[in-house]
Amino acid sequence: MTRLAQTAGLTEVQQEILSTVRDFVDKEIIPVATRLEHRDEYPTDIVEGLKELGVFGLMIPEEYGGLGESLLTYALCVEEIARGWMSVSGIINTHFIVAYMLKQHGTQEQKDTFLPRMALGEVRGAFSMSEPALGSDVSAISSKGVRDGEEYVLNGQKMWLTNGGTSSLVAVLCRSDEGHPEGTAPHKSMTTFLVEKEPGFGEVRPGLTIPGKIDKMGYKGVDTTELIMDGLRIPANRVLGGVTGRGFYQMMDGVEVGRVNVAARGCGVAQRAFELGVSYAQQRQTFGKPIAQHQAIQFKLAEMATKVEAAHAMMVNAARKKDSGERNDLEAGMAKYLASEYCKEVVEDAFRIHGGYGFSKEYEIERLYREAPMLLIGEGTAEIQKMIIGRRLLEEYRFQG
Ligand SMILES: Cc1cc2nc3c(=O)[nH]c(=O)nc-3n(C[C@H](O)[C@H](O)[C@H](O)COP(=O)(O)OP(=O)(O)OC[C@H]3O[C@@H](n4cnc5c(N)ncnc54)[C@H](O)[C@@H]3O)c2cc1C
Repeated sequence: MTRLAQTAGLTEVQQEILSTVRDFVDKEIIPVATRLEHRDEYPTDIVEGLKELGVFGLMIPEEYGGLGESLLTYALCVEEIARGWMSVSGIINTHFIVAYMLKQHGTQEQKDTFLPRMALGEVRGAFSMSEPALGSDVSAISSKGVRDGEEYVLNGQKMWLTNGGTSSLVAVLCRSDEGHPEGTAPHKSMTTFLVEKEPGFGEVRPGLTIPGKIDKMGYKGVDTTELIMDGLRIPANRVLGGVTGRGFYQMMDGVEVGRVNVAARGCGVAQRAFELGVSYAQQRQTFGKPIAQHQAIQFKLAEMATKVEAAHAMMVNAARKKDSGERNDLEAGMAKYLASEYCKEVVEDAFRIHGGYGFSKEYEIERLYREAPMLLIGEGTAEIQKMIIGRRLLEEYRFQG
């Protein structure tokens, strides 16, 4: 039963994939999500199910064993999954970003080594730019990779790795001075290192420690960690693309598609909040009638549904633009900004519709209320999106005099 967030022009294959994923979400995710989230428990069975559906390889080319689907298909799947539980979409998203970066920028050997196992979900990806002292200001990264013969030695502390513990391949952005003289712009002296490790916590490889899970207000179940490199030695052939100094651009490319996915998550969470709100509003009676019959509540539902539709349309537009091979940073920034802000507002309205019960952990909206704020921060805060949007608009609408 869904009237909102329909997408015109999908192929039969896309429709089939989406209906399979939606079915999985309704049967396997929604019934257990809140219980697992309250326990901060990793959704092992759900992840196994998604592996079987091929979701980990959705956008990986068929030649590497993936489904070779478009960003749009992927984003629509993420929307469905986030509708069930946002944390599950987080488990997939960093994996997807790393696979995308490999596909776009990896050497042939790196693609051959990692993509087939990533398509199966055997190798799972995390990506790491943020450090304790920086998130928005990527140019301030201080972790460093220094060449030593046929290896690089990595030192530094990273922060906020989604899937830091459960992943076995981390794309880590470091400063690397090799070949870049003093005074080189920071974004031209950064390199992405492909760091293989054992999943888990503690010293997962000599010189590499994942201390433990960060305790968060929401977005539970999925692990978020620090990463400490202390003399970590990486073979030179694990520089993404084989050339140093390109890391900043590679990461920004990955984050750009990641933004469409954060927008898709916002759409999914907002849809679920609307479903919960519209259902509760028809059951709860006050002053002799269901609260849905009070105009104030109907207006809330109208506003919520309009926001769900608008965010979905912008997300689809941003994904289609990228799929057509065009630059989509403006559309992705707008979609991410709008979908995350609307998501927060729709969740807040659904929470208010629930009255006091919305504050109870027995009701799903309580979980959504703690999850929505993460979308305002991840893959670039609202302020950073507005900076990107503003800059691009001034390029597009340059004053001609
Ligand atoms: C649950 C979670 C998971 C995450 N997962 C990952 C991950 O997998 N990999 C990874 O690399 N990172 C990850 N992050 C980090 C995330 O990308 C950063 O938190 C985010 O980019 C913001 O950086 P910050 O927290 O350092 O805030 P800051 O950059 O310190 O910003 C603080 C405030 O100042 C504002 N601000 C900053 N600069 C400007 C400016 N120039 N103009 C106006 N306002 C400004 C920001 O918008 C924000 O409101 C994750 C974060 C969370 C919370």
